[in-house]
Amino acid sequence: MSILIDLRSVIDEGVGASLSVKDSTSELTKFGLGDIDFCCVAPLSYELDFINAGECVQANGKVHADLSTVCVRCLRDFDFGLDSELEETFFFKPTEDEHGEPYPIIDDSLKIDIAPLLREALLVEAPFAPIHDSDCQGLCVKCGTDLNESDCDCGDEVDSNHPFANLKDLI
Ligand SMILES: [Zn+2]
Ligand SMILES: [Zn+2]
Repeated sequence: MSILIDLRSVIDEGVGASLSVKDSTSELTKFGLGDIDFCCVAPLSYELDFINAGECVQANGKVHADLSTVCVRCLRDFDFGLDSELEETFFFKPTEDEHGEPYPIIDDSLKIDIAPLLREALLVEAPFAPIHDSDCQGLCVKCGTDLNESDCDCGDEVDSNHPFANLKDLI
C-alpha cells in the first residue's frame, strides 16, 4: 500500500513554503505488533503539514485510527480509538541521522509515500497488551469462565463448607 503526497508545489515555492494535508485513507486495513493484530474498522484520518526547509522537507502532524483487536485477558473483540503524532524529515540527497539511520528520500517524482509514516506512528502508540477495560477480570485459568460475565468456584482454593475443609489445618 502507498499513500502518495505530491510535494511539487511546496518545493517550487521555495524555502518556507508549506502544504497542509487533511485526509483519510482506507489503504491501511490492519497492522500487527508482535502477536497482536489491529484491524482498522474505519478509514484512517490524518492531518499533516509539510514545510520546505531548503535541503529537506519536514513533515509533522497527527493520525487517528479506529481499531479492533482482542483483549489479552478475556479474549473478546473490542474497538478503540488510537491517536498518534508524527514527525519526519525527507531529504533530496541520502542523509543519515545521528544513529546512522537513513532519512527517507524525495526522488525525482517529488512524491513521497506517507503510508509507512502513518503505520509507524500508530505502532508507537499501540498497546502491547490490549485490554478491553482496565477492570477486565479475564478468564479463569482453570475452567475458562469469563469472570466479567460470571463467577466460578475455582478461585476459592478450599470451600469452607466442604466436608474436608478442616483437613488442611491438620496436615
Ligand atoms: Zn477483557
Ligand atoms: Zn474457574
